[in-house]
Amino acid sequence: MVKPFVPELVYIEPRALDYPLGRELKEKFEGMGIEIRETTSHNQVRNLPGENDFQKYRMAKSTLVVGVRKTLKFDTSKPSAEYAIPFATGCMGHCHYCYLQTTMGSKPYIRTYVNTDEVFEAAEKYMKERAPEETRFEASCTSDIVGIDHLTHTLKHAIEYFGQTEHGRLRFVTKFAHVDHLLDAKHNGRTRFRFSMNADYVIKYLEPGTSRLDDRIEAAAKVAKAGYPLGFIIAPIYLYDDWKEGYRILFEKLHAKLPDYATKDLTFELIQHRFTKPAKRVIQKNYPMTKLEMDEEKRKYKWGRYGIGKYVYQKDEQEDMKSTLGGYINQYFPEASLEYFT
Ligand code: SF4
Repeated sequence: MVKPFVPELVYIEPRALDYPLGRELKEKFEGMGIEIRETTSHNQVRNLPGENDFQKYRMAKSTLVVGVRKTLKFDTSKPSAEYAIPFATGCMGHCHYCYLQTTMGSKPYIRTYVNTDEVFEAAEKYMKERAPEETRFEASCTSDIVGIDHLTHTLKHAIEYFGQTEHGRLRFVTKFAHVDHLLDAKHNGRTRFRFSMNADYVIKYLEPGTSRLDDRIEAAAKVAKAGYPLGFIIAPIYLYDDWKEGYRILFEKLHAKLPDYATKDLTFELIQHRFTKPAKRVIQKNYPMTKLEMDEEKRKYKWGRYGIGKYVYQKDEQEDMKSTLGGYINQYFPEASLEYFT
């Protein structure tokens, strides 16, 4: 089992100590004997240990910056929610295909924000604007929030905060199985707890540093038993030699382990693997031995915003994926809903 994340190095912005959570985290990391450095801004986190980019990249992914979120304007987050709610950025996982590698660029360390009450106040304004319509907030756009939450409990507070709102809903997705502290949160059914699942092959070769398939399934079953609405994102759907059988086994295992009542209100989101040319370069630099196939010749080019197009699977392959996985959903979870395939 992958152990819960413990940072090797912690930076604390002085302003973070104006907040109770900032002080609490400082004390906690001191108690754990972790090296703590002060920094006036996360942009100053430059001199990470490591002799070359490769080592520095790895060190950054084990570094946690405790900071204050300045921008309280939320990004939109279609199609799964109206807004992205910022609690953290960066991730300790090492998924080869991860989009954070390009979006976080030279700053791949993890940041957690301690001014959560201010974030909640901002969320409240967004909800008021849309009321009486519901507003959904996605908490995992820029990180795997569950992966660090055993340290911060920020997500737990958010779950309880949204649990008592009238018009707010929270959702997030994770590849980590460290969910025990979230099981007794008063969620009131207003949080959809999603797990990112994949065929064992993909998890084994392309998602190092994250919880393994069986651990994720076990965590999903616990979450279902705690009464949370549950969802699965199957992403990235990746075509390897025996993919149909690999994905079938995934569905079979999910079906065997989930309690029946959890399958009534279950959602699936299906996302095929895609890459851009800039991402391919970064991936090859960060993970030179990767098995991830990124051959432009074999893919279909899809024009994108800002002139950066992406390479997706060919039309017939996409159809095959959709009907194969859609078929498994119908077979194993006939009452679940498929939200989208993209
Ligand atoms: Fe990226 Fe998610 Fe993997 Fe973290 S767990 S590296 S956010 S894909």
